Amino acid sequence: MKKATSIKTRITIWYTMLMLAMIAVVLTLVGTLSYQLSLDNVEKSVKLQVTQISEKLETRQRDVFESIDDDEEFKNVSVYSMDQKHIAGQYSYDIANIAFREGEPRRETVGEKEYIVYDVFKHGAPGERNGFWIRGAESVNSTVLLGRSAIVVTLVVIPLILILTAWGGYYITKKAFLPIYGIIQTANEIAAQKDVSRRIEIVPNAREDELYHLSVTLNRMLGKIEHLILQEKRFTSDASHELRTPVSVILAQGEYLLDIAQTEKERELSQSIVDQAKQVSKLISHLLLLTRMDQNRQAFHKEKVDLGVLADIVVDTQMSVAEKKGILLLTSVEENTIVDADEALLLSAMNNLVSNGIKYGKDSGYVSISATKVNGRTEIIVADNGIGIPKENLEQIWERFFRIDSVRNDEYGSCGLGLAVVKSIVELHGGSIFVESEYGAGTRFTILL
Ligand code: ADP
Repeated sequence: MKKATSIKTRITIWYTMLMLAMIAVVLTLVGTLSYQLSLDNVEKSVKLQVTQISEKLETRQRDVFESIDDDEEFKNVSVYSMDQKHIAGQYSYDIANIAFREGEPRRETVGEKEYIVYDVFKHGAPGERNGFWIRGAESVNSTVLLGRSAIVVTLVVIPLILILTAWGGYYITKKAFLPIYGIIQTANEIAAQKDVSRRIEIVPNAREDELYHLSVTLNRMLGKIEHLILQEKRFTSDASHELRTPVSVILAQGEYLLDIAQTEKERELSQSIVDQAKQVSKLISHLLLLTRMDQNRQAFHKEKVDLGVLADIVVDTQMSVAEKKGILLLTSVEENTIVDADEALLLSAMNNLVSNGIKYGKDSGYVSISATKVNGRTEIIVADNGIGIPKENLEQIWERFFRIDSVRNDEYGSCGLGLAVVKSIVELHGGSIFVESEYGAGTRFTILL
């Protein structure tokens, strides 16, 4: 299965990751540089403090030890005797234990801590035996070195920048893709309502970007499709109208020939003319009804229709055909099941369903019509125990001129328009229809009004 990540999300993730990588690189560079700078500063400050104390000792300033102890200025300096005993200034076990060594400031590690250490040995005055070790030492702690501003940047500014990047990226792409949602919505509406007269809305003064051109092109294509569909409908409608009169004439004359037929051969031939003419006449009336409904030209008179009465009419109409196959017609309609519908159209839909039930029913089987009110809706069910419909054809049976097995159906006199007509009628009433079937066992059509 394909992952359902929108372009919006993917772009946002990409920019956020890119920003994160950029921040990481910049931070590493800035961090390394400022660490080096801070290290230099620590070295300088330690050296300066030691030098100043060293000068004070040279000039024998009396208060030199007190100033080491008290002055904040010399907080990183301590003085030791020649045998390395602590005399004054900063003291910690770690610092006192680092071996004394003259030279430039150096880095010393004690346990897990690191120090910048600078030692100077001061000889006593001539004739004096004593001398002092002056030690400057400051711990090198990276957070101290980087300072508070770096912590603020890491904990506050960077997350803020990331949130802004993600939100900004998401917002901009969402706005940029708005026309796409319009296109998707219109396409869905066209598919759902089968209304090709709809167009994608183009906002006045819209920026003429790629999506604008896409919308204009799609609208132009929809216009072309609508024109073609209208042309086809007009052709079907005109052709059906033109054929209606000649077919009626053929039918009437065929019936006349059947009446006056003298021989068996003449009767057989004229019967065939009548049957075929009836078949074409039914096809034409289906086509006309469908095109009228497609073009919203079908007269539609809603009235209170009693489904019990309607079922009885259907049974009366279909009785003779059903009897020929020994098929039982059953009705089970709750009393007073009334619907708002166009009686003639609903009758036509039910006649089609029942006639299919008989056509595709097994000898001595049954076709049943039932109707009930369910949750404020009316449910009409036409069921049979006939040959059934293969699973793979269940979707296609509603298509115009679709017949499951055209050779087999010809003997039943079918044209593949019946169910298309039924569906259009039901939808004209704002209802829906669905089918359940088991191949070889029977079929059940349910209309919800
Ligand atoms: P047709 O004029 O061929 O009956 P329909 O549109 O009424 O056209 O039906 C389309 C196809 O659906 C039929 O050809 C038939 O194969 C199948 N079909 C319809 N109703 C039934 C049913 N009750 N039982 C079995 N198959 C059916």
